[in-house]
Amino acid sequence: MKIINTIAALKSVLQPIKSTVHKIALVPTMGALHSGHVSLIQKAKQLADVVVCSIFVNPTQFTDPKDLEKYPRPLEHDIKMLEEAGCDYVFMPSVKEMYPQPESWHIDLGPAEFLLEGEFRKGHYQGVTQIVKKLFDAANPDIAFFGQKDFQQVLMIQNMVAHFQMPVEIVSCPIIREDDGLAMSSRNIHLSPSDRQNALVLSQALNYVKDNFESQTIPQLVLKAKQIINSVPGVELDYFTIADTKTLLPEDKKMAQNSIALVAAKVGETRLIDNVILN
Ligand code: AMP
Repeated sequence: MKIINTIAALKSVLQPIKSTVHKIALVPTMGALHSGHVSLIQKAKQLADVVVCSIFVNPTQFTDPKDLEKYPRPLEHDIKMLEEAGCDYVFMPSVKEMYPQPESWHIDLGPAEFLLEGEFRKGHYQGVTQIVKKLFDAANPDIAFFGQKDFQQVLMIQNMVAHFQMPVEIVSCPIIREDDGLAMSSRNIHLSPSDRQNALVLSQALNYVKDNFESQTIPQLVLKAKQIINSVPGVELDYFTIADTKTLLPEDKKMAQNSIALVAAKVGETRLIDNVILN
């Protein structure tokens, strides 16, 4: 596996590959890798010839400076995981490389930008799409892999790709969970032993909704899910919603072809998100 730190070096390595028939995959990450990230690499290896993983903790998508400061950066561990997963290239640029000067960025991502995560983390998806556009420009991938764990993020990236008419296929991969149901996340490392136990209530509430989706109304399901979560001390709910997968607007009747339950909560000091597709 080759480690690359500059856009110029990445382009000079990938351009000759691209000009042959090879298919290039990009897996953007912020590092602190776990089996969820590895599942994206594995899927990328199935569907492409060359796999590039980027590790970059993107400052413009953080709305809380403390969150940025304490974001885990275990580089040696990450490189080992990527080597074991069979990644071909890891792109690890500096902040200066990606943002040589401060840049303002605003594109129309559609009304769903301002819902859910967009409501609680103002400007988050402008920052996310800003860095993903830069990574796409640098790597020029044919296909890029993202996790359903960040469901709204996948939607926003699809909108960004459509906005610029970029020739890249976006693949959403299933959520990888710990054995007890907790969705894997780089932020789980911040959970104390009691937070770790309390955090299980998020997947439990989502499972309740999935298991009872046919037999109960949406208001009943949302009420019960909120009760389940609010019954656990140390867990502070930001939102629990059942929404249309396309618009992310809340549903009160089962009208949408596809519905999804999404949750965000602070568990101790750590903010976690999770979701489950319902039909
Ligand atoms: P992050 O490093 O948190 O920015 O995540 C990088 C990519 O990995 C994003 O596309 C995430 O959605 C995805 N990802 C994070 N956690 C998981 C998980 N538990 N299962 C599958 N994909 C994940």
